[in-house]
Amino acid sequence: MKLGDTVTDLLGFTLAEMGDYFLSQGFKKFNAAQVFDWIYVKKARSFDQMTNLSKDLRQFLENNGSIDRLDIKQHQISSDGTRKFLFGLPDGVSIETVLMIQDYGMSLCVSSQVGCNMGCSFCASGLKKKQRDLTPGELVAQVLTAEDAALTKVTHVVVMGTGEPFDNYDNVIRFIRIINEAKGLAIGQRHITVSTCGIVPRILQYAEEPIRSNLAISLHAPNDELRTRLMKINKRYPLAEIIDACRVYFEKTSRRVTFEYLLLEGVNDTLAHADELSDLIRGLNAYVNLIPYNRVREFAYERTDMTRAMAFFDRLMKRGIAATLRKEQGGDIDAACGQLRLKADS
Ligand code: SAH
Repeated sequence: MKLGDTVTDLLGFTLAEMGDYFLSQGFKKFNAAQVFDWIYVKKARSFDQMTNLSKDLRQFLENNGSIDRLDIKQHQISSDGTRKFLFGLPDGVSIETVLMIQDYGMSLCVSSQVGCNMGCSFCASGLKKKQRDLTPGELVAQVLTAEDAALTKVTHVVVMGTGEPFDNYDNVIRFIRIINEAKGLAIGQRHITVSTCGIVPRILQYAEEPIRSNLAISLHAPNDELRTRLMKINKRYPLAEIIDACRVYFEKTSRRVTFEYLLLEGVNDTLAHADELSDLIRGLNAYVNLIPYNRVREFAYERTDMTRAMAFFDRLMKRGIAATLRKEQGGDIDAACGQLRLKADS
């Protein structure tokens, strides 16, 4: 393959789409299952490894297709085993992806865009405007490249890296369908979570998707006045609309929504805020994931200390709201939530 040729990124196809593609090129539909197996199960890195394909098909793929991994520009390993990758893309931009060791498996946090336009006041990812959306193939390549580099199998995927997944909706949904393919990576729908800052029409659309991956919503404040100060998207989609959309989501999917709630010292972390939050989400089938704030040097926010965080947690529980306190990982290599950013050279 030469630079400048138009190549088809095979990583961006679901199995059915790959079958249609092969048919349209004069090959057989069933070739897709073979190629899927080579890419995702046998982990072939080149077409000449795909020995059960006809010579013609291999030659065709050599000339027209790509299964390229991403270019690893940096690979850092934290003291807790968390890995952060800086991946370079062909057009010169770069993205970050984080691989975490969990009790239940290996969880990968993928980026959905290069930069982010949501402009949340506490998040490093929004410091640089969105340069572009990531393609489905680039999303899939984050998984394959991380698996190769860490010699592991990714069992869980969270779309919580840089970018707003619901601002790149179609590509993210296609990505989920691809990694969920039983003949491919076979990552279960309950092992995939998309996190949004609250783009209401997309929450409603997500409720209709046949693949029932999990939904997390970055709430971070229990009233509109405070939430708008923290997250400008709240002007467009205020809390009442988000809560209504969650109700619809639950009616359609019977799946519990996760509300992420960042604890910012002296800003949103008093017991009065916990009470207000309980009232806001009472009756919804939801739970709150409390996130300790990770410092971002450009912002003045401070992390709530553990005693106060526990008091907030207890208060929610006392008021009948299920909650968890997120374990922090990868803080020493700036791989924790909200610390992913566009590098200066990209
Ligand atoms: N745009 C999506 C997904 C990316 S952010 C969203 O908003 O949900 C993933 C999560 O990390 C969000 O809940 C986000 O609010 C949170 N986050 C952002 N900055 C953070 C920080 N500095 N410390 C901890 N969490 C942060």
